[in-house]
Amino acid sequence: MVMFKRTTREDTKLLKVVNELLRVLGKEKVLSGIEDRLCYSYDGTKQKALPDIVIRPNTTSDVSITLKVANKYEIPICARGAGTGLSGGAVPLQGGIVFDLKGMNKILSICPEDFIATVEPGVVTKHLQDEVAKHGLFYPPDPSSAAFSTIGGNVAECAGGITGLKYGVTRDYILALEIVLPDGSIINTGRKTLRSVTGYDLTRLFIGSEGTLGIFTKITVKLIPKPEKIDTLAAFFCERDNAIDAADLVIENNIVPRTLEFMDQMSISAVRGYGGVTLDEDVKALLLIDIDGTGENIKHDLSVVESACKKKNALRVKVAETSKEREAIWAVRRSISPALYNIAPHKINEDVCVPRSRIKELLQKVDQLNDKREIYVANFGHIGDGNVHVNIMFKDEPGQEEIAEKIVHNIMVEVIKLGGTISGEHGIGNKKSQFMDLEILPKELSIMKKLKDFFDPKGIMNPGKLFPSSA
Ligand SMILES: Cc1cc2nc3c(=O)[nH]c(=O)nc-3n(C[C@H](O)[C@H](O)[C@H](O)COP(=O)(O)OP(=O)(O)OC[C@H]3O[C@@H](n4cnc5c(N)ncnc54)[C@H](O)[C@@H]3O)c2cc1C
Repeated sequence: MVMFKRTTREDTKLLKVVNELLRVLGKEKVLSGIEDRLCYSYDGTKQKALPDIVIRPNTTSDVSITLKVANKYEIPICARGAGTGLSGGAVPLQGGIVFDLKGMNKILSICPEDFIATVEPGVVTKHLQDEVAKHGLFYPPDPSSAAFSTIGGNVAECAGGITGLKYGVTRDYILALEIVLPDGSIINTGRKTLRSVTGYDLTRLFIGSEGTLGIFTKITVKLIPKPEKIDTLAAFFCERDNAIDAADLVIENNIVPRTLEFMDQMSISAVRGYGGVTLDEDVKALLLIDIDGTGENIKHDLSVVESACKKKNALRVKVAETSKEREAIWAVRRSISPALYNIAPHKINEDVCVPRSRIKELLQKVDQLNDKREIYVANFGHIGDGNVHVNIMFKDEPGQEEIAEKIVHNIMVEVIKLGGTISGEHGIGNKKSQFMDLEILPKELSIMKKLKDFFDPKGIMNPGKLFPSSA
């Protein structure tokens, strides 16, 4: 656990901040007891750092008041949605204030006639999906954490997920934002219209900003009509390359599936037997494919997909006949993350993305980097977008962590050589900030730093994230 030793002067300052916040917000919204602070000290990376104060705002005004106080005393601020982030974004590395935004969880409006909804940041992604579905509408961004993660966290990370190939990612559905800046002032970016090209696109600048520029307090999203039907197919292969070739052939045939997910041999071994999952021993690679649309087009697309998989030597292809079968196929995919811990107790979960045509090369490079088989590597993910979750697993033995970290570094170098990016969807946080300058050249990095300094001159917003320590 990161604990900063404080001087008496800093303690006195914190006490003043707590008292001022208690006075303006009241004790229900200001927590400073150790039990409360512990609950806000971690995220999905399992890193821990204790905040000094937790604020639970209900309104934009609560956020603004808090930021004014934080700005005056130069106290670090870390926004938190559900804390499911996988790059350290919600971990308050330098203590200070954590904003628990889950209390701002109202769906403010759904306008079916305009294909638009406006929500508070703490709305859980799946709740929004379910509510708009009642109007025959669809909010497509679908991270696997959708049942827990918040829209605010999704916007801050520009979350992707399994529907990205056909429908795009979070940034493709964000029309307007209400944002509280570090000095407590409130701005509105974008418009509640399906198009707007007036001025610079500030909305896009804030999407993926990982809580380093401001706090989103209202989010307007674009909706689309809900597809009539979804069908699911699983294709089983005995060779990894056959599965990759089959995925390519599906797309060459002009079929864009709703999801096109891949699992390699290590991922399959991990889930085999987990939670009742059965997968034959000869299966070494798997494609999980959803097709959506109307009955007629689904029938056509499924037959093209099935024949593409067979052409590329699939051992078998299983089309789900019932919703129970569909659920069983997706249970395999969902169980990977927890099941990987059966292989080794430690996991570094990377989310690199390369042009789809270079996935085979990427996986070959990863094999080469671990040719001594000193650690375990499981690859799975959104093959349709070139976004592969390379999971480096290692044991509690001397030297294993160093080997794992060296392999991760070398993977990043190879990804850049392949024309890819170090993060396709999880963001940079502090976990990947050391690799930023492999991808972002000094000139561009200095522009990003200037933007950060413009919006947050005192550097109070999520310090220690996004930028390498040298920037
Ligand atoms: C099992 C599992 C599966 C996952 N699958 C996917 C996946 O398929 N695709 C994917 O992209 N990610 C995935 N993730 C990662 C994670 O769920 C996403 O990054 C998600 O967007 C984080 O949302 P959150 O509400 O938990 O945010 P948090 O983890 O609480 O915060 C994430 C970042 O957002 C900032 N933030 C939060 N709210 C606000 C706000 N209102 N204003 C400004 N900044 C804010 C925080 O400061 C932090 O930097 C997965 C995680 C888990 C644990």
